[in-house]
Amino acid sequence: MNVLVINSGSSSIKYQLLDPDSADVVASGVVQRIGEPVAEGSPSIEHKSAGRTFEHDGAVPDHATGLKLVFDLFAESGHDLAEAGLRAVGHRVVHGGEIFYEPTLVTDEVIRAIAELSTLAPLHNPANVVGIESARELLPGVPQVAVFDTAFFHGLPAAAKTYAIDAKVAAEYGVRRYGFHGTSHEYVSGQVADFLGRDRTELNQIVLHLGNGASASAVRGGKAVDTTMGLTPLEGLVMGTRSGDLDPGIIFHLIREAGMGVDEVDNLLNRESGIKGVSGVNDFRELGRLIGTGDAAAKLAFDVYIHRLRRYIGAYLVELGRVDAITFTAGVGENDAAVRAAALAGLERYGIRVDEARNTAKDRSARYISPKGAEVAVLVVPTNEELAIARAAVRLVG
Ligand code: AMP
Repeated sequence: MNVLVINSGSSSIKYQLLDPDSADVVASGVVQRIGEPVAEGSPSIEHKSAGRTFEHDGAVPDHATGLKLVFDLFAESGHDLAEAGLRAVGHRVVHGGEIFYEPTLVTDEVIRAIAELSTLAPLHNPANVVGIESARELLPGVPQVAVFDTAFFHGLPAAAKTYAIDAKVAAEYGVRRYGFHGTSHEYVSGQVADFLGRDRTELNQIVLHLGNGASASAVRGGKAVDTTMGLTPLEGLVMGTRSGDLDPGIIFHLIREAGMGVDEVDNLLNRESGIKGVSGVNDFRELGRLIGTGDAAAKLAFDVYIHRLRRYIGAYLVELGRVDAITFTAGVGENDAAVRAAALAGLERYGIRVDEARNTAKDRSARYISPKGAEVAVLVVPTNEELAIARAAVRLVG
């Protein structure tokens, strides 16, 4: 009995049909450029099933249409979802605010509350709501479960989640640190405990989720005690296209001196900054290639990225006091050996070492990259948010 997992982004929908017990993926796909014109020869939907790829070429005007087309592709590829006896549909929901911190069965009231949280995640929560409503309509009778990206960080200590601003303003407008990528940080820290054969309650961990978006977390005994993302996913590490931390005064400066509007600054910091802002490219494969050609801007982008990453690794070492495992995950973390080596270089005195042969080995499974017998386990562990969501959904619906 399978679970359908749906991740509706601002202009995309990613989905997987999978078996939560075996982790086998039956079918998966992505709808891209929703609400945008499509270029000739680049499909708006790619659906993969049993080694075959099914495509849809026309424009997809909105999320509801996208999901309907996906259901048609499922039927075309031999998996009619209405007849598949799904156990549940699991939805990744970006912002749970103060309200949601556990997987939650979707009701009308839950949908309304997720929609109301759109003020905190204006690009994401509205798309999540449409995804949930469409799936409910297309699959009446199948339980729908919302899994929140902020949930793992709900219990952050007050000192870690409080911004030092006027307390009344903070309370009125929900200004606190929420954290994101929680499903990944929770899943990966659990996988680390399994890999080490230890109970998660015994371990102090640093998890580095380095994908196009990037965040780090400090996890003590299975509970998150700090994370780099804040009110929004803009804070913290340098990312593919997001700046991460900066002096808030920069925003006033740009508004006053460059005459930028709020949306322009928002776009600049979320889509035109980070690795892309400094180097012109946001993909680390391309960045590595440019560095190889001697491109100075690409090298600077890499150095800025690593500088920020090391700052947080240092902060979390101090915060945790003792660290048992440091784990790299997501697209960059799982694939880029140069990032991993640079992030932890010169930390031998803290028991942190990276073995070059292990670090550069072509291996896709969870593995050590620290040398045998090292004090701190340095690991690469693939994340799997879809599986984590599917399992959370099944745990809830039984
Ligand atoms: P994610 O958001 O986890 O899907 O990560 C996507 C990012 O991972 C891409 O934008 C790339 O920067 C990076 N990435 C993917 N594959 C590789 C690779 N083989 N080497 C370096 N970076 C990679």
